[in-house]
Amino acid sequence: MKRKGILLVVSGFSGAGKGTLMKKLVESYDNYALSISMTTRKPRAGEEDGKAYFFVEESTFLKKIEEEKVIEYAQYCGNYYGTPKEYVEEMLANGKDVILEIEIQGALKVKEKYPDALLLFVMPPSAAELKSRLVGRGTETEEVIDQRMARAVEEAEGIEYYDYIIVNDVLENCVKELHSIVSTAHNTPENNQEFIKNIREELKSLSKGE
Ligand code: ADP
Ligand code: 5GP
Repeated sequence: MKRKGILLVVSGFSGAGKGTLMKKLVESYDNYALSISMTTRKPRAGEEDGKAYFFVEESTFLKKIEEEKVIEYAQYCGNYYGTPKEYVEEMLANGKDVILEIEIQGALKVKEKYPDALLLFVMPPSAAELKSRLVGRGTETEEVIDQRMARAVEEAEGIEYYDYIIVNDVLENCVKELHSIVSTAHNTPENNQEFIKNIREELKSLSKGE
């Protein structure tokens, strides 16, 4: 029986380590497909178009929304970010567990459209460690780091909307924990409807006449 893919929504404060974690998860296990978002943000040093993001102009972004080619989109610190629909639906249909690494407004929109989605929130071990990771990454100016820390204060208010929190302390442990949550999620009745239906039918036919 072909198993159904899980839609995995991963959020967390900027600098918590989502990108690092997702990269490791996809490298370590073969059941995942990482959705590549579209953004109007400019690429950081080392970010390739079509790998980190599809980097687009605002007019292109707005056109995709109009054409209903995105599952969700949001504005974050002055830029648009959105999830292209086609890849996600194709991968889910192929039984892949599809990862959306998106911020909270987008996560809540996905939950409305896909109620079976699994929502995970990645946390740093402490706020001081978060700031130190953001500074250590060296990709943002001090002003942008301050904006992102301020945004973290707002995002922290929405943590209870998520199904699980994951503390990214030791990276390897965190990757294993994440994978084990996804593996467990495959065992819910909602994700095994076809199997349950078949067993029910078999049980009925075997118990005939008794
Ligand atoms: P995000 O995608 O959530 O914004 P990144 O994956 O870019 O965060 O990580 C932010 C910084 O923290 C990077 O420099 C990364 O190497 C570092 N980092 C990620 N996970 C850990 C960890 N478990 N321990 C220490 N540093 C980490
Ligand atoms: P960054 O600029 O650090 O790459 O991303 C900023 C924020 O945008 C992060 O919280 C990231 O998870 C979020 N993000 C990335 N892609 C998407 C997307 O497609 N939709 C939404 N809603 N948020 C996204």
